[in-house]
Amino acid sequence: MKNNRFLFLGVVCSLFWVSQAWGHEAHEHGAAKIDLAIEGQEVEIELETPLANVISFEHAPRTPSQEKEIRAMAAIMHTNKTLFSFPDKAGCVLEKVSLKSDVISRDLLAPPSSSGGKATQSASVSPKKTKDKKDDDDEHADLDAEFAYRCQNPQALTYIRTGLFKSFPRLKRVDMQIAGPKGQRAARLTPRSNVIKW
Ligand SMILES: [Zn+2]
Repeated sequence: MKNNRFLFLGVVCSLFWVSQAWGHEAHEHGAAKIDLAIEGQEVEIELETPLANVISFEHAPRTPSQEKEIRAMAAIMHTNKTLFSFPDKAGCVLEKVSLKSDVISRDLLAPPSSSGGKATQSASVSPKKTKDKKDDDDEHADLDAEFAYRCQNPQALTYIRTGLFKSFPRLKRVDMQIAGPKGQRAARLTPRSNVIKW
């Protein structure tokens, strides 16, 4: 038992290393990465994607319609049950979603129900003096999303299916690392191949 735990930690550490190394060449529009970790009944999915894959810009919102676009994206991340699915037998329940981006306030990324009250606050978002639009090309930013599931019967976890490509058509490829009781595995998801078995 203990050995398994060490093995698992080892896998997690090496994944971390791999993801750090990967991180430097990251940010390719159309591509994203996911780390999936299974430990006991807990399944954690960490998605790291360029913002451009999920909304149409990569900077703080400058107009009400950009804010609206962010809220719509956040609502999908928080509530769309088909973003990730597992075998029914595994009995997985989504417990928590958290979204983070260096250029977007937490309010805008909050779940739909809790963001209502705060909307007025963030509506005061700057009619900021527009910095020259031409640096838009240099602006790049990511979204980090974490999804935590609890699964009644983790032995039945034999695959994951993603609906990410349907919800976010700009996304064309996801490189996924999976670490769990059966070891470590890497795989690529695409719109045509949206299931990984292990
Ligand atoms: Zn970018």
